[in-house]
Amino acid sequence: MKGAPTVSNEDDARIRRAESLRSRHPAASEFLEFYKHVVSFQKRLRANMARANQLKSGGVALAGLRDELDLTVLLPHFRGYLSVVESHAPHALAESARQFALLPSESWISSLEAYWQHAGIYDQQVGAFAQFLPRAFLQPYAESRASLLARAPLQTTPRLCPLCGSRPLLGVLRREGDGGRRFLLCSFCLREWAFRRILCPTCGEEAEDKLPVYVAEDTPHVRVEACNTCKFYLRTIDLTRDGNAIPLVDDLAAVAHTLWANEQGYTRLQPNLLGT
Ligand SMILES: [Zn+2]
Ligand SMILES: [Zn+2]
Repeated sequence: MKGAPTVSNEDDARIRRAESLRSRHPAASEFLEFYKHVVSFQKRLRANMARANQLKSGGVALAGLRDELDLTVLLPHFRGYLSVVESHAPHALAESARQFALLPSESWISSLEAYWQHAGIYDQQVGAFAQFLPRAFLQPYAESRASLLARAPLQTTPRLCPLCGSRPLLGVLRREGDGGRRFLLCSFCLREWAFRRILCPTCGEEAEDKLPVYVAEDTPHVRVEACNTCKFYLRTIDLTRDGNAIPLVDDLAAVAHTLWANEQGYTRLQPNLLGT
């Protein structure tokens, strides 16, 4: 079972973190409860993918992360996934899953394929719900493809993911020496890459006085790293302030931060699963 146990542990950690954040963030409580069910589904899907990979002889030779979306293993689980969303999601999203389940499988395939090609690149204007269904379903597959790619195949600006070319979802500060080193976390395949601390990942601004950082007193590990030149902001999870944080999950709890940043006139470069 090479590879599988570690990944499942990561899912379990995400579930535990969502549970522990629920009580502290009432505004995000309903979504975090639902998110636990999503991660449980993703964990089962990963186990199925791992089993299918073992049946294939030899490894998979990948040219690029998005080159081919192989739905053979995934598609049989899509109906079950829609029913998880329908049973546990907040009302409007549950309803969209119910409607989606009524469509023929060709519609499912074209929606999954469109997301696979465009996510993190051309999808800034796509609504949160339209994005949610393919995004949460394909995330484990994108993560597993990223783990199969030995090194970055793309020549891109460091502002985009070196594996798949997507925009970053988050910044992550990890302890290094006396301070923290900043990484960007890919919104599509969840790979992290190192990125300078005083540099706007949207427009390339380098002047420190144009790049204010805001932190709320009650959640000092969640930073709004703004840029006054382009008016975009990056949310950064500071693991040097809270070593128990899991960036992907803590981001979902930070609803109040999104509202605050919007009030200040800042826009997020790439929204999270919740669409905020
Ligand atoms: Zn990526
Ligand atoms: Zn900027």
